[in-house]
Amino acid sequence: MENFLDSVKQAMDSAVKKTGQMVEKTKVKLAAVDTKNTLRATYVRLGELTYCAARGDETLGDQIEQVLLEIDRLKETLARQEESANETAGIPGTSGTKYCPHCGASCTPTALFCSNCGKQM
Ligand SMILES: [Zn+2]
Repeated sequence: MENFLDSVKQAMDSAVKKTGQMVEKTKVKLAAVDTKNTLRATYVRLGELTYCAARGDETLGDQIEQVLLEIDRLKETLARQEESANETAGIPGTSGTKYCPHCGASCTPTALFCSNCGKQM
């Protein structure tokens, strides 16, 4: 009877751990969705500012520059979040991918030479 209870307890422990991982994964995914929405809204703002600037409002240069910086930041955040969501899911993160400095082709992280142009990485 004691053995039976032990195995039930173990099964429950492992279920709790799995649930914890899933919750973590969902959290990261939700954060990424949130960042995407913010990014979309920022693009809309950039569109409005660009429209006004194109219509002759010359005071908007600084604001446009700030929105551009904000978009850069959001894109970085989103990339990190998506990477960590993939890692949590057991898929190798895109951080493992190397890009050829000569032609820009994506290569495996361990590649010493580019599979596209053959130059040294
Ligand atoms: Zn190359």
